[in-house]
Amino acid sequence: MTSDMGEMFNVMREARRARRAKFGIPCPRCAEKRPKAQPSILLPNQACKVDGYIDPRPHTTLEQRNECYREAGIDLVEQN
Ligand SMILES: [Zn+2]
Repeated sequence: MTSDMGEMFNVMREARRARRAKFGIPCPRCAEKRPKAQPSILLPNQACKVDGYIDPRPHTTLEQRNECYREAGIDLVEQN
């Protein structure tokens, strides 16, 4: 793996973490069905892998995601 690829991988991982921190919510069905387990963290419009609950919020927009990266100081701009 070149250092560029390693760098890109780190940026993608940071971006994913920032998106989850800003937009993620704990799955309410997980909390209800399995209160002792860690609930899944759902992004807007994402389905829970455990129980199939779908977050009702609309998908994040490109602008919301890029603003999230700016706020987190991540050097990434998503393009359509
Ligand atoms: Zn769930």
